[in-house]
Amino acid sequence: MTKQGKKNQKVKLKDVLEVTLWFGLAVIAIVIGIACLSGGGEEEKVAAQIPAKITGFVYDPEHQLADTTVDKVNTRLRTLMHKTTAEVVVAVVSATGNLTIEDWSQQTFESLGIGKKDLDNGLLLVIATDQHKARIHTGYGVEGVLPDATCSRILHSLVNPQMAAEKFDVAVDSATLVIDSILTNPANTAEIMSEYTSVPSAASSLDRQNRKVAHKDEDVAAGYWTLGVILLLILLIVIVPKIYTPRRERFKKGPKPPAKRIKYLKCPECGRQKYHLTFDVVTKAPRYKQEGKGVRRYSCDACGHSAQENYTIGRLKKWSLDGILSFIVFAAKMKSTGGNDADTDDDNYSGGGSSSSSGGDFSGGSSGGGGASSEW
Ligand SMILES: [Zn+2]
Repeated sequence: MTKQGKKNQKVKLKDVLEVTLWFGLAVIAIVIGIACLSGGGEEEKVAAQIPAKITGFVYDPEHQLADTTVDKVNTRLRTLMHKTTAEVVVAVVSATGNLTIEDWSQQTFESLGIGKKDLDNGLLLVIATDQHKARIHTGYGVEGVLPDATCSRILHSLVNPQMAAEKFDVAVDSATLVIDSILTNPANTAEIMSEYTSVPSAASSLDRQNRKVAHKDEDVAAGYWTLGVILLLILLIVIVPKIYTPRRERFKKGPKPPAKRIKYLKCPECGRQKYHLTFDVVTKAPRYKQEGKGVRRYSCDACGHSAQENYTIGRLKKWSLDGILSFIVFAAKMKSTGGNDADTDDDNYSGGGSSSSSGGDFSGGSSGGGGASSEW
């Protein structure tokens, strides 16, 4: 190659680089332009309305629910709060504006301060009717009894099918019924309230400190004991579920997973083979000394007839590995709550802004971000 040729090639290379550079810049400009345009499109979405305060436990600004449902659910959730201190709120909106349902839930949860501040035991059920989306948002304090998987099952087996059929009232009614029964189950209620009941309120913090010093040796022993239990638990949690999961799953509180195939029965009302199970929830998990309970509902696709029945679930076998596992979990829980030193004041209900006596004044819980979302 001649010197001239080399020089030409260099020039060409320079041209190619220049074209590439400009082309690249043009592509970037176009991408940014599109991003801006679509961003502009989003701005046209209505700004999300976050309620600052609501009356009662149901937020339904567009009156999409029947008054009777609102009353019924309000009564249910107020009773639930008095029994367990847990605060459950339902919000039915057509859309969450420019926010995702997750962000809307989080902001509303914080804005209303759902759940007791110390316990963070709030739950928010959000249904965005036009968006076909629903979410259960939970505070740390209820995540133990209503883990994300259970929330997801409630949404998928109760809320979604009813919402798809435009039965808003049934969706809200059945979801709150199940949430209520899970939270009022005595065993679960104890968990929610444990922080209150486990602390002797008369003891001053100084007393507690003195006791701590005196029992230092005991604490070390307890430490080893706890470590042993934790190791055993890890072993059991990892290995035992592999063998026992199907059985454990069946007895878990909350809605049963939907059957793979719908079994049609003869309808007692119209006689057609269109009667089937639509709702099946374990409201009380069986234990070895106690039978469990469940509620199931059948309805007919042909005539709309439906009936609900309560049933019992047999006691667990006394010496099953399952039982041993739950005993160890129980023992570990007792151990851990026994050592808790949380402070309690008698009245923690005034965590919200003003101390009005309306039912819609929540206690300043902040969400732990737990929960589940779904679409129908
Ligand atoms: Zn029928």
